[in-house]
Amino acid sequence: MNKTVIITGAAKGIGRAIAKDFAYSGYNVCINYNTSEEQAKELCQELAKDGCNIIIYKADVTNRQEVDKMVDYVIGTFGNIDVLINNAGISEYKLFTDITQEDMEKMVNVNILGVFNTTQSVLRKSMLPRKDGTIINISSIWGMVGASLEVAYSTTKAAIIGMSKALAKELAPSNITVNVVAPGAISTDMISSLSKEDLEVLKEEIPLGKIGNVEDVAASVKFLASYEARYITGQVISPNGGLVI
Ligand code: NAP
Repeated sequence: MNKTVIITGAAKGIGRAIAKDFAYSGYNVCINYNTSEEQAKELCQELAKDGCNIIIYKADVTNRQEVDKMVDYVIGTFGNIDVLINNAGISEYKLFTDITQEDMEKMVNVNILGVFNTTQSVLRKSMLPRKDGTIINISSIWGMVGASLEVAYSTTKAAIIGMSKALAKELAPSNITVNVVAPGAISTDMISSLSKEDLEVLKEEIPLGKIGNVEDVAASVKFLASYEARYITGQVISPNGGLVI
């Protein structure tokens, strides 16, 4: 039977590339989206036309009721959930002293509480009863080394690494692995606010000499979900072109 994966924030950017990679590898895929409905529908049509098993589901990951309904819907459609990929996230460039409490709460809600909601829901409803599963959380190099002007973002992305390591220990006896993919600079809407000059400077700092693309991240995620990665848990893999070594 095909394995089933939920990918949060999968209508665009890195999540979209992950969804395509898993869909073309034969997984049943649930593409979660929040605001990008058109892109989610268009991706669903494209993949379904190619014979992939795809559903899309609108849920704000900060809203536990919506998340629980999505998880129930996926289990109702495909039977269970084998892989959860927590990809949805937001970022913001601001001086630390300009960050408002509202900014900070929004960042924590999406980037940390969102991961908590989907993970707890999927664990309770599918992975723990079956004693099987793989969870992959998308962090960032800035959660590993910190980024100036991105203190709020770095805080939440570091929290994802801590959460994943602790959870990996707690879930290992239940045969569930938890790992992190921490990408470097990847060409998506998230870095589109950077000027051409800033992007050039960034590129020069990357030993492999280029900004990464979404498929580079999807490849790491796919590996961690594969049978070959069955003995890996609590680890951070960072596709970053050597920017952080
Ligand atoms: P993106 O194109 O801006 O995509 C972000 C995704 O998150 C969107 O699909 C969005 O969904 C979803 N999202 C945001 N808030 C949500 C919510 N409340 N509920 C559900 N989904 C929500 O950015 P990206 O670069 O692909 O980022 C994907 C992940 O990679 C993020 O966790 C990011 O931190 C991480 N990352 C990115 C880079 C990079 O350089 N691009 C580097 C390191 C890590 P809707 O559009 O449907 O609202």
